Amino acid sequence: MFDLDVVVIGGGIAGLSTALFLKRFGYNVIVYERAPEILPVGAAISVWSNGVKVMNRLGFGKEMIELGGQMDRMIYRSSKGESLVDMDLGPVYKEVGERCYPVPRAELQQMLMDKYVAEGGKLVLGRSCVSVHRVDESDEDSKMYAVFDDGSKSMVCDVLVGADGIRSQVRTHVLEKEMSPVYHYTNWNGLVKMDAKLGKPNEWVMHVGEGKRASVMPVGNGRFYFFMGAPLPEDAPAPERGSEAMRDELKEIFKGWPASVQHLIDAIDVTRLNRIPICDVDPLPRLWRGRAVLVGDSAHSTTPTLGQGGCQALEDAEVLSSFLTTTNVGVQDVFARYEQHRKDRVHTMVLKARERTAQIYPRDAEGEKATQQWYEELRSSKDIGSNILGGITANLKQGPWP
Ligand code: FAD
Repeated sequence: MFDLDVVVIGGGIAGLSTALFLKRFGYNVIVYERAPEILPVGAAISVWSNGVKVMNRLGFGKEMIELGGQMDRMIYRSSKGESLVDMDLGPVYKEVGERCYPVPRAELQQMLMDKYVAEGGKLVLGRSCVSVHRVDESDEDSKMYAVFDDGSKSMVCDVLVGADGIRSQVRTHVLEKEMSPVYHYTNWNGLVKMDAKLGKPNEWVMHVGEGKRASVMPVGNGRFYFFMGAPLPEDAPAPERGSEAMRDELKEIFKGWPASVQHLIDAIDVTRLNRIPICDVDPLPRLWRGRAVLVGDSAHSTTPTLGQGGCQALEDAEVLSSFLTTTNVGVQDVFARYEQHRKDRVHTMVLKARERTAQIYPRDAEGEKATQQWYEELRSSKDIGSNILGGITANLKQGPWP
Protein backbone atom coordinates (compact mmCIF):
# COMPACT_ATOMS: atom_id res chain seq x y z
CA MET A 1 0.00 0.00 0.00
CA PHE A 2 1.37 3.42 -0.88
CA ASP A 3 1.01 7.02 0.36
CA LEU A 4 -1.03 6.29 3.46
CA ASP A 5 -2.03 8.82 6.11
CA VAL A 6 -1.87 7.02 9.44
CA VAL A 7 -3.23 8.15 12.80
CA VAL A 8 -1.97 6.29 15.87
CA ILE A 9 -3.90 6.78 19.12
CA GLY A 10 -1.55 6.18 22.08
CA GLY A 11 2.20 6.68 22.46
CA GLY A 12 3.14 3.59 24.48
CA ILE A 13 5.33 0.72 23.31
CA ALA A 14 2.72 -0.44 20.77
CA GLY A 15 1.96 3.00 19.32
CA LEU A 16 5.56 4.20 19.10
CA SER A 17 6.95 0.98 17.60
CA THR A 18 4.14 0.81 15.02
CA ALA A 19 4.61 4.49 14.19
CA LEU A 20 8.37 4.06 13.80
CA PHE A 21 7.99 1.14 11.38
CA LEU A 22 5.34 2.96 9.32
CA LYS A 23 7.19 6.29 9.28
CA ARG A 24 10.24 4.50 7.93
CA PHE A 25 8.17 3.07 5.08
CA GLY A 26 7.37 6.65 4.08
CA TYR A 27 3.81 6.95 5.38
CA ASN A 28 2.51 10.20 6.84
CA VAL A 29 2.13 9.20 10.50
CA ILE A 30 0.84 11.20 13.50
CA VAL A 31 0.76 9.79 17.02
CA TYR A 32 -1.76 11.38 19.41
CA GLU A 33 -1.02 10.72 23.08
CA ARG A 34 -3.26 11.55 26.04
CA ALA A 35 -0.49 12.36 28.53
CA PRO A 36 1.09 15.83 28.46
CA GLU A 37 4.43 14.01 28.71
CA ILE A 38 5.21 10.34 28.13
CA LEU A 39 5.12 8.67 31.54
CA PRO A 40 5.69 4.92 31.75
CA VAL A 41 3.46 2.74 33.93
CA GLY A 42 5.72 0.47 35.98
CA ALA A 43 9.44 0.54 36.53
CA ALA A 44 10.82 -2.03 34.12
CA ILE A 45 9.83 -4.66 31.64
CA SER A 46 11.46 -7.94 30.67
CA VAL A 47 11.71 -7.84 26.92
CA TRP A 48 11.92 -11.52 26.04
CA SER A 49 13.78 -12.74 22.97
CA ASN A 50 10.75 -12.32 20.66
CA GLY A 51 10.43 -8.65 21.65
CA VAL A 52 14.20 -8.12 21.45
CA LYS A 53 14.12 -9.39 17.86
CA VAL A 54 11.65 -6.62 16.93
CA MET A 55 13.79 -4.06 18.77
CA ASN A 56 16.78 -5.33 16.79
CA ARG A 57 14.80 -4.90 13.57
CA LEU A 58 14.01 -1.31 14.63
CA GLY A 59 17.74 -0.69 15.06
CA PHE A 60 17.98 -0.81 18.87
CA GLY A 61 20.15 -3.92 19.17
CA LYS A 62 23.10 -2.19 20.86
CA GLU A 63 20.87 -0.13 23.13
CA MET A 64 19.03 -3.23 24.37
CA ILE A 65 22.35 -4.82 25.36
CA GLU A 66 23.41 -1.62 27.16
CA LEU A 67 20.10 -1.08 28.96
CA GLY A 68 19.35 -4.72 29.65
CA GLY A 69 20.19 -6.88 32.62
CA GLN A 70 22.37 -9.96 32.08
CA MET A 71 19.76 -12.49 33.10
CA ASP A 72 21.43 -15.92 32.94
CA ARG A 73 19.52 -17.92 35.53
CA MET A 74 15.93 -18.17 36.72
CA ILE A 75 15.49 -19.39 40.28
CA TYR A 76 12.47 -20.31 42.39
CA ARG A 77 12.75 -20.21 46.16
CA SER A 78 10.06 -20.80 48.76
CA SER A 79 8.79 -18.16 51.16
CA LYS A 80 10.99 -19.90 53.74
CA GLY A 81 14.10 -19.38 51.58
CA GLU A 82 14.46 -23.00 50.48
CA SER A 83 15.82 -23.40 46.90
CA LEU A 84 13.17 -25.06 44.70
CA VAL A 85 14.35 -24.90 41.07
CA ASP A 86 17.48 -23.31 39.61
CA MET A 87 17.51 -23.03 35.81
CA ASP A 88 20.12 -21.98 33.25
CA LEU A 89 18.44 -19.76 30.61
CA GLY A 90 21.38 -20.26 28.20
CA PRO A 91 19.76 -23.17 26.32
CA VAL A 92 16.55 -21.15 25.83
CA TYR A 93 18.49 -18.24 24.32
CA LYS A 94 20.46 -20.63 22.12
CA GLU A 95 17.32 -22.37 20.90
CA VAL A 96 15.48 -19.15 19.98
CA GLY A 97 18.54 -17.18 18.82
CA GLU A 98 18.35 -14.18 21.16
CA ARG A 99 18.58 -13.29 24.86
CA CYS A 100 15.98 -11.71 27.10
CA TYR A 101 16.74 -8.16 28.26
CA PRO A 102 14.94 -6.75 31.29
CA VAL A 103 15.09 -2.96 30.79
CA PRO A 104 13.89 0.13 32.66
CA ARG A 105 10.57 1.02 31.10
CA ALA A 106 11.09 4.80 31.03
CA GLU A 107 14.33 4.36 29.12
CA LEU A 108 12.76 1.93 26.63
CA GLN A 109 9.87 4.26 25.92
CA GLN A 110 12.12 7.33 25.72
CA MET A 111 14.38 5.53 23.27
CA LEU A 112 11.44 4.68 20.97
CA MET A 113 10.07 8.21 21.19
CA ASP A 114 13.42 9.92 20.59
CA LYS A 115 14.13 7.81 17.52
CA TYR A 116 10.63 8.36 16.10
CA VAL A 117 10.83 12.13 16.62
CA ALA A 118 14.45 12.33 15.40
CA GLU A 119 13.37 10.65 12.17
CA GLY A 120 10.73 13.32 11.61
CA GLY A 121 7.79 11.49 13.20
CA LYS A 122 4.91 13.69 14.39
CA LEU A 123 3.77 13.29 17.99
CA VAL A 124 1.01 15.37 19.57
CA LEU A 125 0.89 15.17 23.37
CA GLY A 126 -2.03 16.02 25.64
CA ARG A 127 -4.77 14.77 23.28
CA SER A 128 -7.18 12.28 24.80
CA CYS A 129 -9.25 10.45 22.21
CA VAL A 130 -12.93 10.16 23.14
CA SER A 131 -14.29 8.63 19.92
CA VAL A 132 -13.35 7.66 16.37
CA HIS A 133 -15.50 8.11 13.27
CA ARG A 134 -15.75 7.35 9.58
CA VAL A 135 -15.84 10.44 7.35
CA ASP A 136 -18.76 8.78 5.53
CA GLU A 137 -20.62 6.90 8.26
CA SER A 138 -22.49 4.81 5.67
CA ASP A 139 -19.26 3.40 4.17
CA GLU A 140 -17.29 0.78 6.18
CA ASP A 141 -14.23 1.52 4.03
CA SER A 142 -14.39 5.26 4.55
CA LYS A 143 -11.39 7.29 5.76
CA MET A 144 -11.43 8.01 9.49
CA TYR A 145 -10.63 10.58 12.16
CA ALA A 146 -10.50 10.75 15.94
CA VAL A 147 -12.16 13.29 18.24
CA PHE A 148 -10.37 14.48 21.40
CA ASP A 149 -11.73 15.59 24.76
CA ASP A 150 -11.04 19.26 23.98
CA GLY A 151 -13.32 18.98 20.93
CA SER A 152 -10.45 18.98 18.41
CA LYS A 153 -10.08 16.36 15.67
CA SER A 154 -7.17 14.36 14.30
CA MET A 155 -5.94 14.38 10.73
CA VAL A 156 -8.29 12.44 8.43
CA CYS A 157 -6.53 9.12 7.76
CA ASP A 158 -6.49 5.97 5.66
CA VAL A 159 -5.48 3.85 8.65
CA LEU A 160 -6.37 4.47 12.30
CA VAL A 161 -4.30 2.44 14.73
CA GLY A 162 -5.70 1.95 18.24
CA ALA A 163 -2.70 1.68 20.57
CA ASP A 164 -4.51 3.22 23.53
CA GLY A 165 -4.00 0.47 26.06
CA ILE A 166 -6.25 -1.55 28.34
CA ARG A 167 -9.11 0.99 28.43
CA SER A 168 -9.06 1.61 24.69
CA GLN A 169 -11.55 3.97 23.04
CA VAL A 170 -10.65 2.63 19.61
CA ARG A 171 -11.48 -0.90 20.82
CA THR A 172 -14.98 0.30 21.72
CA HIS A 173 -15.40 1.49 18.12
CA VAL A 174 -14.01 -1.75 16.66
CA LEU A 175 -16.19 -4.01 18.82
CA GLU A 176 -19.18 -1.65 18.98
CA LYS A 177 -19.24 -2.29 22.74
CA GLU A 178 -17.07 -1.73 25.82
CA MET A 179 -14.95 -4.51 27.30
CA SER A 180 -14.23 -4.20 31.03
CA PRO A 181 -10.86 -5.13 32.53
CA VAL A 182 -10.94 -8.12 34.92
CA TYR A 183 -9.01 -7.69 38.21
CA HIS A 184 -6.64 -10.47 39.39
CA TYR A 185 -4.15 -9.26 42.04
CA THR A 186 -2.16 -6.29 43.36
CA ASN A 187 1.41 -5.65 42.20
CA TRP A 188 4.16 -3.52 43.70
CA ASN A 189 7.18 -2.70 41.57
CA GLY A 190 10.17 -0.40 41.27
CA LEU A 191 13.93 -0.23 40.82
CA VAL A 192 16.60 -0.60 43.53
CA LYS A 193 20.40 -0.46 43.44
CA MET A 194 22.01 -3.87 43.01
CA ASP A 195 23.21 -5.29 46.27
CA ALA A 196 24.53 -8.78 47.09
CA LYS A 197 22.05 -8.93 49.99
CA LEU A 198 19.21 -8.91 47.45
CA GLY A 199 20.59 -11.29 44.83
CA LYS A 200 23.26 -11.95 42.21
CA PRO A 201 23.57 -9.60 39.22
CA ASN A 202 22.82 -12.32 36.67
CA GLU A 203 19.96 -14.11 38.45
CA TRP A 204 16.20 -13.67 38.33
CA VAL A 205 15.04 -14.88 41.73
CA MET A 206 11.39 -15.47 42.61
CA HIS A 207 10.25 -16.29 46.12
CA VAL A 208 6.82 -17.94 46.10
CA GLY A 209 4.59 -18.98 48.99
CA GLU A 210 1.27 -18.27 50.74
CA GLY A 211 -0.21 -17.41 47.32
CA LYS A 212 2.18 -14.45 46.92
CA ARG A 213 5.41 -13.69 45.10
CA ALA A 214 8.48 -11.47 45.66
CA SER A 215 11.05 -11.19 42.91
CA VAL A 216 14.19 -9.39 41.75
CA MET A 217 15.45 -9.28 38.18
CA PRO A 218 18.63 -7.56 36.94
CA VAL A 219 18.37 -4.52 34.64
CA GLY A 220 21.24 -2.46 33.20
CA ASN A 221 23.42 0.07 35.06
CA GLY A 222 23.62 -1.85 38.33
CA ARG A 223 19.93 -1.97 39.22
CA PHE A 224 17.40 -4.63 40.13
CA TYR A 225 13.81 -4.44 38.96
CA PHE A 226 11.66 -5.81 41.77
CA PHE A 227 8.07 -6.92 41.67
CA MET A 228 5.90 -8.30 44.42
CA GLY A 229 2.34 -9.51 44.26
CA ALA A 230 -0.52 -10.63 46.47
CA PRO A 231 -4.16 -11.48 45.72
CA LEU A 232 -5.65 -8.61 47.74
CA PRO A 233 -9.36 -7.92 47.27
CA GLU A 234 -9.89 -5.36 44.50
CA ASP A 235 -11.32 -2.84 46.96
CA ALA A 236 -8.64 -3.30 49.67
CA PRO A 237 -7.73 0.17 51.03
CA ALA A 238 -4.40 1.45 49.72
CA PRO A 239 -1.88 3.38 51.83
CA GLU A 240 -1.15 6.95 50.78
CA ARG A 241 1.06 7.02 47.69
CA GLY A 242 4.72 7.68 48.48
CA SER A 243 4.23 7.26 52.24
CA GLU A 244 6.08 4.99 54.68
CA ALA A 245 2.74 3.21 55.12
CA MET A 246 3.43 1.60 51.73
CA ARG A 247 6.55 -0.04 53.17
CA ASP A 248 4.62 -1.07 56.29
CA GLU A 249 2.03 -2.75 54.08
CA LEU A 250 4.73 -4.82 52.34
CA LYS A 251 6.38 -5.67 55.68
CA GLU A 252 3.03 -7.02 56.87
CA ILE A 253 2.23 -8.97 53.69
CA PHE A 254 5.73 -10.52 53.51
CA LYS A 255 6.23 -11.00 57.26
CA GLY A 256 8.48 -13.99 58.00
CA TRP A 257 9.84 -14.20 54.42
CA PRO A 258 13.63 -14.60 53.98
CA ALA A 259 16.23 -11.94 54.78
CA SER A 260 16.75 -11.01 51.09
CA VAL A 261 13.04 -10.09 50.82
CA GLN A 262 13.23 -8.03 54.03
CA HIS A 263 16.38 -6.26 52.73
CA LEU A 264 14.53 -5.53 49.51
CA ILE A 265 11.58 -3.96 51.33
CA ASP A 266 14.01 -1.87 53.40
CA ALA A 267 15.84 -0.73 50.24
CA ILE A 268 12.73 0.48 48.39
CA ASP A 269 12.37 4.21 47.78
CA VAL A 270 8.67 4.45 48.67
CA THR A 271 8.32 7.77 46.88
CA ARG A 272 8.91 5.83 43.66
CA LEU A 273 7.08 2.64 44.57
CA ASN A 274 4.27 1.65 42.19
CA ARG A 275 1.24 -0.17 43.62
CA ILE A 276 -1.12 -1.21 40.85
CA PRO A 277 -4.15 -3.45 40.33
CA ILE A 278 -3.36 -6.10 37.74
CA CYS A 279 -6.14 -6.69 35.25
CA ASP A 280 -6.59 -8.27 31.86
CA VAL A 281 -9.34 -8.28 29.24
CA ASP A 282 -11.10 -11.34 27.78
CA PRO A 283 -9.85 -12.26 24.29
CA LEU A 284 -11.51 -10.03 21.69
CA PRO A 285 -13.77 -11.39 18.96
CA ARG A 286 -11.98 -9.22 16.36
CA LEU A 287 -8.96 -6.94 16.00
CA TRP A 288 -10.19 -4.52 13.33
CA ARG A 289 -13.23 -2.89 11.78
CA GLY A 290 -13.31 -0.80 8.62
CA ARG A 291 -10.08 1.20 8.66
CA ALA A 292 -9.43 0.96 12.40
CA VAL A 293 -7.12 -1.70 13.79
CA LEU A 294 -5.91 -2.58 17.29
CA VAL A 295 -2.35 -3.22 18.50
CA GLY A 296 -0.82 -3.82 21.93
CA ASP A 297 -2.91 -3.85 25.10
CA SER A 298 -5.96 -2.46 23.32
CA ALA A 299 -5.95 -5.69 21.27
CA HIS A 300 -4.85 -8.13 23.98
CA SER A 301 -4.46 -6.90 27.50
CA THR A 302 -2.80 -9.61 29.59
CA THR A 303 -1.56 -10.06 33.15
CA PRO A 304 2.24 -9.73 33.30
CA THR A 305 2.93 -13.26 34.56
CA LEU A 306 4.43 -14.44 31.24
CA GLY A 307 6.21 -11.11 30.64
CA GLN A 308 4.67 -11.02 27.16
CA GLY A 309 2.30 -8.01 26.94
CA GLY A 310 4.92 -5.59 25.65
CA CYS A 311 6.60 -8.27 23.55
CA GLN A 312 3.30 -9.06 21.82
CA ALA A 313 2.80 -5.33 21.22
CA LEU A 314 6.17 -5.29 19.44
CA GLU A 315 5.21 -8.37 17.42
CA ASP A 316 1.93 -6.63 16.43
CA ALA A 317 3.89 -3.61 15.19
CA GLU A 318 6.13 -5.76 13.05
CA VAL A 319 3.34 -7.90 11.57
CA LEU A 320 0.95 -5.02 10.86
CA SER A 321 3.61 -2.89 9.20
CA SER A 322 4.86 -5.86 7.25
CA PHE A 323 1.41 -6.61 5.74
CA LEU A 324 0.74 -2.90 5.10
CA THR A 325 3.93 -2.53 3.14
CA THR A 326 3.97 -5.81 1.24
CA THR A 327 0.36 -6.38 0.14
CA ASN A 328 -1.70 -4.10 -2.06
CA VAL A 329 -5.33 -5.19 -2.24
CA GLY A 330 -6.73 -2.72 0.28
CA VAL A 331 -6.58 -1.64 3.91
CA GLN A 332 -9.29 -4.06 5.05
CA ASP A 333 -7.49 -6.92 3.31
CA VAL A 334 -4.32 -5.99 5.24
CA PHE A 335 -6.21 -5.94 8.53
CA ALA A 336 -7.82 -9.33 7.81
CA ARG A 337 -4.36 -10.81 7.17
CA TYR A 338 -3.02 -9.16 10.33
CA GLU A 339 -5.89 -10.57 12.40
CA GLN A 340 -5.50 -14.03 10.92
CA HIS A 341 -1.79 -13.96 11.76
CA ARG A 342 -2.12 -12.56 15.28
CA LYS A 343 -5.43 -13.56 16.81
CA ASP A 344 -4.64 -17.10 17.99
CA ARG A 345 -1.19 -16.11 19.20
CA VAL A 346 -2.36 -13.19 21.32
CA HIS A 347 -5.45 -14.98 22.64
CA THR A 348 -3.27 -17.89 23.73
CA MET A 349 -0.97 -15.48 25.59
CA VAL A 350 -3.86 -13.80 27.41
CA LEU A 351 -5.36 -17.13 28.50
CA LYS A 352 -2.03 -18.78 29.40
CA ALA A 353 -1.05 -15.74 31.47
CA ARG A 354 -4.44 -15.80 33.20
CA GLU A 355 -4.00 -19.47 34.06
CA ARG A 356 -0.52 -18.87 35.39
CA THR A 357 -1.77 -15.87 37.40
CA ALA A 358 -4.40 -18.04 39.09
CA GLN A 359 -1.67 -20.57 39.97
CA ILE A 360 0.60 -17.92 41.52
CA TYR A 361 -2.13 -15.79 43.14
CA PRO A 362 -5.09 -18.02 44.12
CA ARG A 363 -8.36 -16.22 44.82
CA ASP A 364 -10.36 -18.99 46.55
CA ALA A 365 -10.02 -22.35 48.33
CA GLU A 366 -10.09 -24.32 45.07
CA GLY A 367 -7.33 -22.09 43.67
CA GLU A 368 -5.28 -22.50 46.84
CA LYS A 369 -5.31 -26.29 46.39
CA ALA A 370 -3.89 -25.90 42.86
CA THR A 371 -1.26 -23.47 44.15
CA GLN A 372 -0.17 -25.89 46.91
CA GLN A 373 0.13 -28.62 44.29
CA TRP A 374 2.31 -26.32 42.16
CA TYR A 375 4.58 -25.57 45.14
CA GLU A 376 4.89 -29.34 45.64
CA GLU A 377 5.83 -29.80 41.98
CA LEU A 378 8.45 -27.03 42.25
CA ARG A 379 9.85 -28.78 45.32
CA SER A 380 9.90 -32.36 44.13
CA SER A 381 9.26 -32.89 40.42
CA LYS A 382 12.42 -33.86 38.57
CA ASP A 383 11.05 -32.57 35.24
CA ILE A 384 9.82 -29.20 36.48
CA GLY A 385 12.90 -27.21 35.34
CA SER A 386 12.80 -28.59 31.80
CA ASN A 387 9.00 -28.14 31.67
CA ILE A 388 9.29 -24.46 32.65
CA LEU A 389 12.10 -23.79 30.19
CA GLY A 390 10.25 -25.74 27.47
CA GLY A 391 7.16 -23.57 28.03
CA ILE A 392 9.19 -20.36 27.77
CA THR A 393 10.96 -21.57 24.63
CA ALA A 394 7.64 -22.47 22.98
CA ASN A 395 6.21 -19.00 23.72
CA LEU A 396 9.26 -17.28 22.28
CA LYS A 397 9.56 -19.45 19.18
CA GLN A 398 6.04 -18.89 17.92
CA GLY A 399 6.79 -15.27 16.97
CA PRO A 400 6.49 -13.91 13.44
CA TRP A 401 9.89 -15.12 12.25
CA PRO A 402 10.97 -18.04 10.09
P1 FAD B 1 0.23 1.23 27.13
O1 FAD B 1 1.61 1.05 27.64
O2 FAD B 1 -0.88 1.22 28.12
O3 FAD B 1 0.21 2.59 26.33
C1 FAD B 1 -1.00 3.16 25.90
C2 FAD B 1 -0.76 4.62 25.66
O4 FAD B 1 -1.94 5.20 25.15
C3 FAD B 1 -0.43 5.38 26.95
O5 FAD B 1 0.68 6.21 26.71
C4 FAD B 1 -1.71 6.15 27.25
O6 FAD B 1 -1.46 7.37 27.93
C5 FAD B 1 -2.25 6.37 25.86
N1 FAD B 1 -3.71 6.50 25.85
C6 FAD B 1 -4.61 5.79 26.55
N2 FAD B 1 -5.85 6.19 26.27
C7 FAD B 1 -5.73 7.20 25.38
C8 FAD B 1 -6.66 8.02 24.73
N3 FAD B 1 -7.98 7.89 24.95
N4 FAD B 1 -6.21 8.96 23.87
C9 FAD B 1 -4.87 9.11 23.63
N5 FAD B 1 -3.94 8.35 24.24
C10 FAD B 1 -4.37 7.40 25.09
N6 FAD B 1 5.17 -6.87 29.20
C11 FAD B 1 6.28 -7.54 28.80
O7 FAD B 1 6.47 -7.80 27.61
N7 FAD B 1 7.24 -7.92 29.73
C12 FAD B 1 7.11 -7.63 31.06
O8 FAD B 1 7.98 -7.97 31.85
C13 FAD B 1 5.95 -6.92 31.48
N8 FAD B 1 5.80 -6.59 32.79
C14 FAD B 1 4.72 -5.88 33.18
C15 FAD B 1 4.58 -5.54 34.51
C16 FAD B 1 3.48 -4.81 34.94
C17 FAD B 1 3.36 -4.47 36.39
C18 FAD B 1 2.50 -4.42 34.00
C19 FAD B 1 1.29 -3.64 34.43
C20 FAD B 1 2.61 -4.78 32.66
C21 FAD B 1 3.71 -5.50 32.23
N9 FAD B 1 3.88 -5.86 30.90
C22 FAD B 1 4.99 -6.55 30.49
C23 FAD B 1 2.86 -5.51 29.90
C24 FAD B 1 3.25 -4.26 29.13
O9 FAD B 1 3.54 -3.23 30.03
C25 FAD B 1 2.13 -3.84 28.23
O10 FAD B 1 1.67 -4.93 27.49
C26 FAD B 1 2.60 -2.75 27.28
O11 FAD B 1 3.00 -1.61 28.00
C27 FAD B 1 1.49 -2.41 26.32
O12 FAD B 1 1.86 -1.30 25.57
P2 FAD B 1 0.74 -0.44 24.86
O13 FAD B 1 1.47 0.61 24.13
O14 FAD B 1 -0.18 -1.34 24.12
O15 FAD B 1 -0.14 0.14 26.05
